[in-house]
Formats: sequence, structure tokens, C-alpha cells
Amino acid sequence: MISFNVPPYVGNEEKYIKEAIESRKICGDGGFTKKCNAKLEEMTGAKKALITTSGTSALEMASLLAGIKEGDEVIMPSYTFVSTANAFVLRGAKIVFVDIRPDTMNIDENLIENAVTPLTKAIVPVHYAGVSCEMDKILEIGEKHGLSVIEDAAQGVNAFYKGRALGTMGDFGCFSFHETKNYSMGEGGAILINNEKDVERAEIIREKGTNRSKFFRGQVDKYTWVDLGSSYLQSELNCAYLYAQIEDPELINQNRLRAWDMYRELLSPLRDNGRLELPTIPEGCVHNAHMFYIKLKDIDERSAMIKHLRKYEIGSVFHYIPLHSSPAGQRFGRFAGEDVFTTRESERLLRLPLYYGLRLDEVEFICEKVKEFFK
Ligand SMILES: *Cc1c(COP(=O)(O)O)cnc(C)c1O
Repeated sequence: MISFNVPPYVGNEEKYIKEAIESRKICGDGGFTKKCNAKLEEMTGAKKALITTSGTSALEMASLLAGIKEGDEVIMPSYTFVSTANAFVLRGAKIVFVDIRPDTMNIDENLIENAVTPLTKAIVPVHYAGVSCEMDKILEIGEKHGLSVIEDAAQGVNAFYKGRALGTMGDFGCFSFHETKNYSMGEGGAILINNEKDVERAEIIREKGTNRSKFFRGQVDKYTWVDLGSSYLQSELNCAYLYAQIEDPELINQNRLRAWDMYRELLSPLRDNGRLELPTIPEGCVHNAHMFYIKLKDIDERSAMIKHLRKYEIGSVFHYIPLHSSPAGQRFGRFAGEDVFTTRESERLLRLPLYYGLRLDEVEFICEKVKEFFK
């Protein structure tokens, strides 16, 4: 059996969790949290990185930090995970969905400006599969209209756009360390703060709206409630698990890239024969092998492929019912322009197994079975 996903485990996780237990500090902001924050800053060059309880809570923090309020509009693709939208709906915003590009499944940067209205406050590009959105154009639109740019880089840890780490180009970047992501702590995430002016407020929001971080640094003599906030601090036990994986991020990265490259090599004859489509990595993008997907003819062919692979106990999955067609998406959002690609492409996409430790002979086996389907 080849599962679709196996949570990453590189070897030092237990040792570090034991260290956290023995340090007699297992709540947030202990030694491992600080090590993870510093490591993420080193990997990305971000001004400030703060570990959170999830990618979802990092997005919620970004929404608070961007000052999103009732009646604001926030632009994003419809082809994304629900948390991208929920974080802003929770603050009373209306979601404005924009179509995607079929080559990367990312928001079509050329359609964003048409969706801007006087109510627009933010653009949320989602770097699907760890492949960057066209950020030069998106940042230019943000600048021109005075909008916050919040990168949903949940899938984009250790991926780059023209030499810049995903998550560091907008005002805020959000990472996820869910067990299905490249680096994991079970449940967890991080927010990257890219402007110095937002750092202090980010620490306050993350500490339930108190100035406790300042208190611990001895900058104030008592701590108190100063702003909105919630509990976005991650446990030290989870941070110890994550630290083992990001200590040398290339261990996981290179292993995943090898499997990804092999998938592409072995499936390219099928692409050349027009049987299926493979992911595109635009020039200037360095991806992190977060995902390997194929695109079939249509939803029926995809269902048949899933069934075919299941016969050989190969787990393949699809995801994202486009948000604009979901009950909550209809209530809280609208689609700007025409849905040319979002629905059509989402129905054709199928993800193949990809995780740290997936063996190359397993990739070969999977590709053989994909080929067999077309015989
Ligand atoms: C995984 C993911 C999230 C949410 O992250 P969690 O850590 O599961 O809360 C948000 N957006 C995208 C695009 C994701 O893939």
C-alpha cells in the first residue's frame, strides 16, 4: 500500500521533545519556539517570524494586523483552502474571488485590478503547491491602490520567487506545519511580519491582546490587556517536533524534490502524447515539491483514475471544491469576472502520493499504474 501522505519524521523529534519536557517548560515561547522562530527568519530573511497554532491562526492574525473590518473587501482565488477566506470573513469582510491561471492554479494576476473597488483592503495570493504567484505584478497593484498584501504561503515553506522567500514579499506571510505540509508539527503554523512597524502589535495579538512579550523582556514592569488578541501561542512540544525537521531543511526538501523530478520524468511521455497535463514551474520560481499533481481530461476520467489506482492500493486525492460554489462562499463572497478555469481545472486535478521518505521505486510503480490506465 502507498498512502497519499505520511507525516514527516526525520529522527531527532523524540530527543527534542524529551529535552522540552526536561526543561520544565512546555507552554509557548520557550527554547524550541525561539529556535524555530530564529530558524524561519534565517531560512526566509523575514524581519520577524512567529510560530502559531496553525496556518489558519496565522491567517487570522494577518487579518487582524491588516485592520480588516466590517464591509471591507478582500481579493483571493476561489481555488484555495477555506481558511484563506474564513480569516477575513471572521472580521466582517466580503470575499471577492478572482479566476486562476490554468498553468499554476494560482490567482491570475492580470484579473486582479478589475476586481478592485473603493472597498478593497487586501489581496491574498495563495502560492499553490509551493509555486509562487506572479508577485511583481501583485505587489505593484497593491502599492498602486494602497492595499495590504497577505501571502498564503501555507504550502510554500522553503520556496522562492526571484530569489525571495515566499511569505516575505507581502506585508505578512502565513506558513502551515500541518501534518500534510512539507515540514510538520502535527498542527501548527507561523506568521512572517515583513514591516518593522507591525512587529510589536503582532506579539500582542498572539499573546491574547496583552503586552506580555514586552514584560518578559523587561521593557514594561507589569503586563496588561492592550489590544484585540487570542491564543496563538504554540506548545513547546510541537515546536520541538518541528525544530528537528527545519534544523536542516534541505534533508526533507531534497528528498521530496527527487521524488517530484522522477514523477515528472516518468510521466512526461504521457504529457507529450496529450494524455494528461503536468505542473508548470514558471521561470524565476524555485518550488519545494510540496505537491505532484496530474490533470486528466475531466472529472469522470479523474474518478476512473482514482478507482484504478485504488485497485493497487495507491492513495490519490483531489481537493478544493471552489469556494465560490460552496454554501458559505456564496454567503460571504462573490466572483469578480468569469469563472473560466477555477471550476474546470479543479475538477481535472489529481494529487499523487508525495511525502518525505517516499521511495523512488514506489514512484516508479505509481507511474507504471498511471500509464496502464491509458492502455
Ligand atoms: C494547509 C493550508 C492552510 C491551513 O493551514 P492549517 O495549518 O491546516 O490551519 C491554509 N491555506 C492553504 C493554502 C493551505 O494549504
